[in-house]
Amino acid sequence: MNLYYKRLLGIIFVIMALVYATIVGVGYKVFRDYALLQNQIDAKDLLMHSRALRLYLENTLKPVIYQLQNDGKLSHAFFDAKILSTTYISRQVMKEYNKQRKKEGLSKYIYKIASDNPRNPINKANTQESKLLKKFNDTNLTIYIKHVKKNTKEYIYYAMPVLKTKRSCMRCHSSPELAPKGLIDKYGSKAGFGEHINVSRAIVSLAVPFDENIRNIQKFYRYFVFILSAIFILVFIIICFFINVLDKKDKKLKNKAEIDGLTNVYNRYKFNKDIERFVNSQRDGDILHLAMLDIDHFKNINDKYGHSTGDMVLQELCSLISENIRPSDRFYRVGGEEFTIVSFSNTYETELEFTQRIRKIVQQHRFKKVVNVTISLGFTQYKKDESSVQFYERCDRALYNAKENGRDRVESIIL
Ligand code: GH3
Ligand code: MG
Ligand code: MG
Repeated sequence: MNLYYKRLLGIIFVIMALVYATIVGVGYKVFRDYALLQNQIDAKDLLMHSRALRLYLENTLKPVIYQLQNDGKLSHAFFDAKILSTTYISRQVMKEYNKQRKKEGLSKYIYKIASDNPRNPINKANTQESKLLKKFNDTNLTIYIKHVKKNTKEYIYYAMPVLKTKRSCMRCHSSPELAPKGLIDKYGSKAGFGEHINVSRAIVSLAVPFDENIRNIQKFYRYFVFILSAIFILVFIIICFFINVLDKKDKKLKNKAEIDGLTNVYNRYKFNKDIERFVNSQRDGDILHLAMLDIDHFKNINDKYGHSTGDMVLQELCSLISENIRPSDRFYRVGGEEFTIVSFSNTYETELEFTQRIRKIVQQHRFKKVVNVTISLGFTQYKKDESSVQFYERCDRALYNAKENGRDRVESIIL
């Protein structure tokens, strides 16, 4: 593959790798955001459920109990947290909920109701919860969300104020004198009193484990990365394939530009290119030889047999010489019926022997129609530091000498 296409492929690879890395990176963030959203939906759903339960207890269940008390069917002194404390009931429901989760192999949701003035000490707000409760009562804030890590586990912490204290709540939360005797007996006359209407007296918080959502999205993320990688690899293979096709086409075109259409050997353009390269890459030990050959009295052949027969002679001669040169030799058609052979013979004698052998092969060959064709050859050795033009002209002079000295012969000029 040529250097241009190799570089192009390299650039395409780098660009694709960058795009891939960006998609993978951004993709992970999108998946994580989605997991977070899912976590928030779950938490909101549960908090709404919990609020609905509290509303039911407050608006439906408690009035029935109070009615029973008013009707004298139940003592006014009666109090049992199991049916009259929304906080207690909510906490118990969450306990049951967590048991169900555990059965399913799911981790626990941490649920807490926190108040500055709880009846039950387990509901006592810590400093942060206390600050948050104040913030809920003093500002318009309705929900607080925070990402927390607890013992290597990730949670999303949600906190909301409980519904504002209503008149019906005041029976148990204003002063101990109004509260049922059962309540005082159980919790005493200190904690949980002195509340005010329209004020949230606690926060409900829920810490929802995030690692489950992460695990779920990681599964899908792996599919996503796998499919994305497969697409990128496929696209890159297709690009490689097309670049390879282009490269082959280029090579074919290049070859065509360097091959002579009539004789199928290298042309003058290729010779000029090669000779420059050979001259510039001369190494010690190699002796660059240039032989030039020309058909003797070719004009006569054309005149006698016609131009197309002349063409056939050129083709037959080229096949003959191509078959008889050494693998390291290069054969070119540099003019109408003029040819050159570039070789790295290590001595003058070898080159002389080689050129004489070529001459004899042509001389002894029976050409179609024409039968006898001879060639004259001139050769020379490259002299250090001379230009390719000087080298070529000296070879041309050697060929001229061969023509001058009677044709069908080899002459050389060695400096
Ligand atoms: P010499 O021995 O001195 O080389 O005599 P020559 O007749 O071969 O003379 P020269 O080399 O000058 O002649 C070249 C001739 O080759 C002239 C031209 O008509 C003929 N020729 C050149 N190219 C082609 C070709 O492609 N096809 C044919 N048929 N003839 C060509
Ligand atoms: Mg000639
Ligand atoms: Mg000629």
